[in-house]
Amino acid sequence: TDAAALLLSRIRDVEDHPEPGVMFKDITPLLADPKAFAVLSDALAVIAGATGATKIVGLEARGFILGAPVAVQAGLGFIPVRKAGKLPGATLSQAYDLEYGSAEIEVHAEDLTTTDRVLVIDDVLATGGTAEASVRLIRRAGAEVVGLAVLMELGFLGGRARVESALAGAPLEALLRL
Ligand code: IMP
Repeated sequence: TDAAALLLSRIRDVEDHPEPGVMFKDITPLLADPKAFAVLSDALAVIAGATGATKIVGLEARGFILGAPVAVQAGLGFIPVRKAGKLPGATLSQAYDLEYGSAEIEVHAEDLTTTDRVLVIDDVLATGGTAEASVRLIRRAGAEVVGLAVLMELGFLGGRARVESALAGAPLEALLRL
């Protein structure tokens, strides 16, 4: 579609970032283009509506940038899932494995309740580790995860299978599949 072509044209490939051998997808040209950013936000807001979400969870850090305008546009609350140690209040934590070592994400426990239907938003789905951990974290907080939406899915890393098994039937929507 025209929308997908516009979005794709505003993503920059950066070789060897953050380490040698990795091709990094840089979304800063898209954010700098108000038309492309609006197209992206509109598309994610449509997904939020279709899933019947009551809250948007954004994953640090680019999930904040993408998720916040969607929350405002859709009239939903925005909840940040942050790397460990950043949130000041009482948190729930979820650890997950990285290629080398492990990481931990957190959410304010009081931000999610059993009546919440959550759409998770991030920029890129790579191995799916971050997204899978966020789904587990949100469920442990008592809320329902009604979907996960990303700008871009890197298909060759196999993240979709991993996340779909965690999502248990809720949709994984990727605006672009690379
Ligand atoms: P995963 O946990 O391996 O799926 O990695 C996804 C997380 O890493 C997301 O929060 C992304 O923001 C980030 N990420 C991984 N690869 C890229 C990339 O090429 N561009 C931008 N972000 C990336």
